[in-house]
Amino acid sequence: MSGFNFDVITLFPKAFELINNLGVITRAIDNNLINVNLHDLREFGEGCYRQVDDKPYGGGSGMVLKPGPIYEAHDSINKSSKSKTILMTPQGKVLKQKDFIRWTSLDQLIIICGQYEGFDERVRCLADEEISIGDYVLSGGEIPAITIINGVTRLLPGTLGDPNSLLDESHNNFLLEYPHYTRPLIFREMKVPDILISGNHKEISLWRKTKMYERTLLKRNDLIKMVNVSDFHQRNTDSNDNLNFYLQEENETYPDW
Ligand code: SAH
Repeated sequence: MSGFNFDVITLFPKAFELINNLGVITRAIDNNLINVNLHDLREFGEGCYRQVDDKPYGGGSGMVLKPGPIYEAHDSINKSSKSKTILMTPQGKVLKQKDFIRWTSLDQLIIICGQYEGFDERVRCLADEEISIGDYVLSGGEIPAITIINGVTRLLPGTLGDPNSLLDESHNNFLLEYPHYTRPLIFREMKVPDILISGNHKEISLWRKTKMYERTLLKRNDLIKMVNVSDFHQRNTDSNDNLNFYLQEENETYPDW
């Protein structure tokens, strides 16, 4: 199948109905830029009750997803040569914009969603990467999987009307994006900064760059602390190179798991 394939192993395929009403993502499906293939874990369940979970060995609360159905589901998926399997887990590496960028060089992501207490430990052997969407615990991997589908899809060529909108956006280069305004000029006594209606594009661009630094320092100082200063300035001399810069750096920063 042409287009980027997201193959999702889930006990709740209906949760993915959301992506049929998600603007840019829905358009990407309609235009065959991506395919979201849902693999209902229940269909791989064991016995006449199609059992997918069981009590944990050693006792304790909750149910654990059995390894068998997940392995069967994973085996049933046709894999391309540029495919990776991602396990959604709060114990994984915390997701960053950089991950979305490097996954765009693939053409298939197989995403395994956990439920209940999680999955049998042996499921981890299927994963190329274990990913968490943040330091909190949700009830299932479906919303994390939708997060990944969304984040990768909007970076794929042809998805966004104006790909330039990706360049300055938050987290693309250790900086948050500058403030945006639209009409009206004055709203509840709050006025659009004069510079934006000056028509001076050079000044506007400088103002925006300054705002990016200012608000990153103010709101997310930690992002700037992550890079050394000279490296940071080098990255910001030509913002058009940012996406390529990240892709080139991929192996340096993210060894395969
Ligand atoms: N008992 C597990 C959490 C299970 S939550 C633990 O303490 O580690 C059930 C499932 O929801 C997980 O298997 C995972 O697939 C998904 N999930 C919950 N929070 C997540 C997060 N922050 N990131 C990614 N997946 C998450």
